[in-house]
Amino acid sequence: MAKIIINRDNFYHNLNQIALKTGSKEKISIVLKDNAYGHGLETMASLASEFGLTHAVVRNLKEADRIREKFDDILVLGDRAVPDKQCVFTLNSLEDIARAKPGARVELKVDTGMHRNGIAMDEVGDALKQIGARQLELVGVMTHFRAADEMGSAFFWQKKRFESVKAKVRSAGFSDIRFHSHNSAAILRSGSFDEDLVRVGIAAYGYDELPDPFTPTPLKPVMQLVASKVATRRLKKGERVGYGGDFAAPRDMTVSTYDLGYGDGWCRGNTFAPFVTAEGLPILGRVSMDFISVESEKDEIVVFNDAQDAAKQLGTISYEVMTALSKDIERVVV
Ligand SMILES: *Cc1c(COP(=O)(O)O)cnc(C)c1O
Repeated sequence: MAKIIINRDNFYHNLNQIALKTGSKEKISIVLKDNAYGHGLETMASLASEFGLTHAVVRNLKEADRIREKFDDILVLGDRAVPDKQCVFTLNSLEDIARAKPGARVELKVDTGMHRNGIAMDEVGDALKQIGARQLELVGVMTHFRAADEMGSAFFWQKKRFESVKAKVRSAGFSDIRFHSHNSAAILRSGSFDEDLVRVGIAAYGYDELPDPFTPTPLKPVMQLVASKVATRRLKKGERVGYGGDFAAPRDMTVSTYDLGYGDGWCRGNTFAPFVTAEGLPILGRVSMDFISVESEKDEIVVFNDAQDAAKQLGTISYEVMTALSKDIERVVV
């Protein structure tokens, strides 16, 4: 069986690196949406909780229900707000406020420039009034950066706008509100951190996506993808492998089939610029639904041990390579 190997020490190393930036692990909220970026929701929730994290972020209530007992507080990014002892729900629009059930604990997301989700800057006053009128309990106010991982001014003017939102919320009489804006790139680049939480995803899983001019933080990949041998055969020079026969053996060679394919969420890629595994083995011919072929006789091959390297070969980003991997692949913690 293909499997995903989760390295606990590397995960804890990354969390420690982030704690150095935030000042304490109490300020880290681990983002576990989308099956914990493909690492396995329950697996990563347990590890994070054993490390001592008490805050988590998920996409919906269904995800929150699967990890409920492991955290004090779970922020749900995109689901209807209902009363819940542990979950806090993100309000992305005035419509979300109108839909929320009285008694729900909520966080207001403010659009400071990403223009994807969140309440417009000039709707904040109105939103705060409606939150009170609908008897919702406001726990926090947040925003999201559109370009924390890029040089340029956007990060700075969004920060400034968020500061003005904080002032507005405070002057509207709300106290004891938590404020947060940082994702991985933002916390990795910042020299000083004075907010209440950081919502950290990709950095916890081992990747610093900042461009070169920033001082790199030493992070370690948490995930390794391993495939197991199904069969081995000897090919004569000129014999072809897989659908369409795109690969022709340039000499007599020994080739094995391994149990990973696009049905498992592995990218089909380009046969004529083949993906090269972590051990330097090019995938031969087309990726099938459940199989790949490589020149090896080993029982197991490491397909990748660094999703960022794999993503570069596949013309995408580490996030996509990891989240695409099927939840049915076994996750094994070492
Ligand atoms: C996914 C997400 C994050 C985490 O982003 P990373 O770049 O993976 O750290 C933080 N905040 C919000 C609102 C998100 O949707």
